[in-house]
Amino acid sequence: MGNCCGKSADREDAYRVKSEAGGAQSGVGPPKKGKREAVQGIVDTALDSIVLPSIPKDDKVRDYIRQAMGTNLLFAMLDDEARNEIIDTMSKQTYPAGKVVILQGEKNAETFYAVESGCCEVLKNEEAAQIGSQVTESNIGQRISPPKLYPAGTGFGELALLYAAPRAASVRATETSVLWQMERSHYFLIKRKFVDKVNKEKLELLDSVPSFKSLNPRQLDLLIDALEPARISKGTQILRKGDTGDKFYIVKTGEVVIKIDGKEVCKQGPGSFFGERALIKDDVRAADVIATENCLCMTLNRQAFNDILGPLENLWRLEELRKVPMLCNLKEKQLALLAQEVVEVEYVAGQFVFRKGEQGDKLFIMEEGQCSVIDEDTGTELAVLTKGQYFGERGLMNSDVRAASIRCDTAVKVACLSRRVLHKCLGTLEDLLYAWRADTLANVDLLKVLSPGQRLQLAKNMEVEKFKDNEFIITRGESGDCFYIVESGEVVIIGNDGIKELVRLSPGKFFGEQALISNETRAASVRAIGPVQLLSVGRSAFNSVFGSLQSILDNASSSYEKDTSELKVELKDLEHLAVLGIGAFGKVLLVRHQGALFALKCMSKRQVLEKNMVNHVKREKEIMRALSSPFTVNLMATLHDEHTLYMLMEKVMGGEFFIYLQSREDACSEDEGRFYAACVIQAFEYMHGQGYMYRDLKPENLLIDSTGYLKVTDYGFAKKLVTGKSYTMCGTPEYLAPEIINQNGHGHAVDWWALGVLIFEMCTQDTPFGADDQMMILNNINGVTINWLSAKNLSVKCKDLMKKLLVKNPAKRLGSLKGGVNDIKNHPWFADFDWESLSNRTYKPPYVPHLDNPEDTSHFEDIPLDAKVPGEEEFPGSKARKLNTNAFVDW
Ligand code: AMP
Repeated sequence: MGNCCGKSADREDAYRVKSEAGGAQSGVGPPKKGKREAVQGIVDTALDSIVLPSIPKDDKVRDYIRQAMGTNLLFAMLDDEARNEIIDTMSKQTYPAGKVVILQGEKNAETFYAVESGCCEVLKNEEAAQIGSQVTESNIGQRISPPKLYPAGTGFGELALLYAAPRAASVRATETSVLWQMERSHYFLIKRKFVDKVNKEKLELLDSVPSFKSLNPRQLDLLIDALEPARISKGTQILRKGDTGDKFYIVKTGEVVIKIDGKEVCKQGPGSFFGERALIKDDVRAADVIATENCLCMTLNRQAFNDILGPLENLWRLEELRKVPMLCNLKEKQLALLAQEVVEVEYVAGQFVFRKGEQGDKLFIMEEGQCSVIDEDTGTELAVLTKGQYFGERGLMNSDVRAASIRCDTAVKVACLSRRVLHKCLGTLEDLLYAWRADTLANVDLLKVLSPGQRLQLAKNMEVEKFKDNEFIITRGESGDCFYIVESGEVVIIGNDGIKELVRLSPGKFFGEQALISNETRAASVRAIGPVQLLSVGRSAFNSVFGSLQSILDNASSSYEKDTSELKVELKDLEHLAVLGIGAFGKVLLVRHQGALFALKCMSKRQVLEKNMVNHVKREKEIMRALSSPFTVNLMATLHDEHTLYMLMEKVMGGEFFIYLQSREDACSEDEGRFYAACVIQAFEYMHGQGYMYRDLKPENLLIDSTGYLKVTDYGFAKKLVTGKSYTMCGTPEYLAPEIINQNGHGHAVDWWALGVLIFEMCTQDTPFGADDQMMILNNINGVTINWLSAKNLSVKCKDLMKKLLVKNPAKRLGSLKGGVNDIKNHPWFADFDWESLSNRTYKPPYVPHLDNPEDTSHFEDIPLDAKVPGEEEFPGSKARKLNTNAFVDW
């Protein structure tokens, strides 16, 4: 399917194999249109070893090169410093008249050329291009029409800087020409360093804003893309007192003056910011701000901020709520819900928020001003409360008689959460606490045998124990009979020497669980770090409720093992039935194991090594092992022998979605497209939830299962991303998101972009950014130049969804805003779509593949079992013996 590195060539060989082998009568034919190959730039780890050369050149040459780089999208983002750095690395070559610089079809091209003097012409052998045959200097073809020439100050071959794609045409010198060459590895390294610098600067700017202190690293990462540069020329009035505004400014370079009523208050330079109140509400500007120099500012507007993270004050409140011990273990979503429901209350100086002896049912968090906690009976002041401090929290648990009075020393603003609102949103705190404890117990291997109900019962039976800073909870060598969960605070496990800290355990982590089985001797000591609250249960208390854990485990052991262990398979037990397809490194077979059918993907170790794809296939295996969903292809087992790696997967018998789309007379109707898009959304929702971005969506990577539902397959480019961004250039050109092409760092949003492309392709049989040459495709993507003509018959809702997915800035793209995938699922195009019946698979698919029996392979190309296909060992043992296959010992 979409593996990179010469797959389409492999496929052509496969078809040849098929006809040579006589071909059987059944099965689908080869696709009308070739499958699109995935591409990959230089992976991060390879950048470390690149050494940048520095080749002297005079200013005139530099000017020519700069001109050649021009407005090309590959260089557009770079600043002068980065451009100069790249120019430094370029080397000179002189080509006499008639000498070929680039040959059409060349596969491993890595160079961009800038013309200093002379001229080059573009030539194309159309016939060779159509049948994919080799072009040499003797059949180089004609000048293209209209003719294309590269005189001094122009450049060509830039696609090769991004990835290895066969050269689309030849280029030859028409006269003696001096060319300067730029290499892909140098370009990648400099671009990467530049992007790192830019993102780091943006992050530092965001970090310096006090209102953003409560944002976590993931939230700050999301804001990076929402920051927009604004060049402001000297003398411009940026803010005017009394105007309302919704934009916040951070000064990157230059200087501004702040004036009130015409009087200068101060001057501010790089790193300063103004207008931050506009992020909370329409800000009536309190002062004039004027640029005293040309300035570069980074701006953020409230709408963009709210779309990504929700209102700023809710984020602050969420963090404050998290500090309240009885709320600290709530999930992010639960806290966010409460933060939304919090109400703001204002008091004047001298007013009481509540008084000693009153019944209380509210928690308060100080937002502005100062209060005193006083005992009115004795007239003593017990404490002073300022911003960020909370009080009255016991009122959330049960009707609390207030033990002291809270009096406002100044005008005060508090955020207030009542027990009624808490119950309405989440249920009682007690239930929440028990649910949290039961969730934690579900992570304890030994307790996985308990049913959810039993775990909840155990949660209710656990006792709260408090320890002071440094206090020992258990000591090495003593016999233990208690199991603990950390509820709040932190503990540390100490090594044998009694000093070394082995690991720290935070809330939700546990220790001492073996004590529930026997009086084992504690293997290590555990000490509190700061005040700690633990939940504990002793063995006898456990036994009196559930009976002995050992006997529960013994009874459950047979089914327990079956559920958790991978399928035990030996190669000799697999019966080969048919070929399902050709992969990058060998066949995919339909096999039988103990009566059950599976797909067996075979990959030649030699090919994997030779194509430098060891990490690629290992990553695919790891990711498939981690994923398990009805909308992904599940991995059952991995095996290997001397020459081959195997992945035993669930079989998906309806064939490739790509072939299905091509076999249709016309495009999918919107109803059909909606169903297929929904399957992909379900797959992505699941993958993203596990932290993975997929990065290679296209019909070629979708399989139709026997019920007509789609499954996403081929995980070679998938990657786990928890925080930060990924920089590897990878995917399939027509589906690449702009941020991948620009290499400015990407995240899960690239999958939602690709979804937009897929919907377009399914519903129009065309692609939104398609063009004759790949550089044009990339330019179309970068400029979001969508071929709307092909989509003219689609509904307004469908086009609207595509427009919202095909948004250049990932921070503004549907799917990556604060509503996440729900923003897509709730889009009007899906208004009548029954997501629930899709999840429980009762939704009626538009097409159900006809299958005579479970072994029916008629939806796949017909390739005989014994056909020789690329990747398979032709001489087992000969070539392979020379290979060092140590790389696969952990397969
Ligand atoms: P791949 O190596 O994943 O690109 O697979 C090559 C071809 O084998 C695909 O295009 C499918 O035709 C077929 N194939 C791969 N995986 C499966 C599967 N799990 N079930 C059925 N056919 C498959």
